[in-house]
Amino acid sequence: MEAQEIELSDAIQRICDVSPHYGRWDFESAAEFRRMGAIEHPDGGLVSSDTYGSNFYNNTEEKWRHVTNARAIRDLLEEADSGCGWEYGPADTFVYDLDNPAIVAVVESVESRLADYPFLNEDSYTEEVWEENHPSETECHAGSDCDCYVNSHECSEVLWNAYEAGALPIAEGEWYCAYCDKWYKITAQITDEMAMREFRKQLADAEAAGQLCLF
Ligand SMILES: [Zn+2]
Ligand SMILES: [Zn+2]
Repeated sequence: MEAQEIELSDAIQRICDVSPHYGRWDFESAAEFRRMGAIEHPDGGLVSSDTYGSNFYNNTEEKWRHVTNARAIRDLLEEADSGCGWEYGPADTFVYDLDNPAIVAVVESVESRLADYPFLNEDSYTEEVWEENHPSETECHAGSDCDCYVNSHECSEVLWNAYEAGALPIAEGEWYCAYCDKWYKITAQITDEMAMREFRKQLADAEAAGQLCLF
């Protein structure tokens, strides 16, 4: 079956003119709108509809800016008109029916918000970037500006918390700080402090045992 003749917006036609991969047919066959638009980005391109980020490889911030914007737009479009009136278009675009007033209103609002500010859901963006930069409690890929515990911790606090929990990695006179990913020498001062804590603990245990004996 022939794709029906569809009137494409100027932005879509521009993409078709310059793209080696996508042409009119790709857009015409994406949805059966009489007149088709695509959500435009203030940078002159089209807004990405990639809600997973599978096509952004290099930059964590850039990826999540696009992805959280795409998710916000999807939600707004679905809320305005679930299922029809818009579609995921070729080249990771959002295409929409220029004759659907509810969808056109959403698109206009999204385009004007993006012209003012690059994030549609900054909380979600911040959270996703944080999660990706911190794959575990002891890892930070965000750089030294990040104020997470990996960067801001006192090694001595890590040392004594782990010691008290009975989970301090020790080997060959050194202890391991997981947040620094480094081994440090167990100094005489640390050895003294360990002995002191051990002594206090034994006292406390004896006291607890003594009290138990009274009953
Ligand atoms: Zn961090
Ligand atoms: Zn440390």
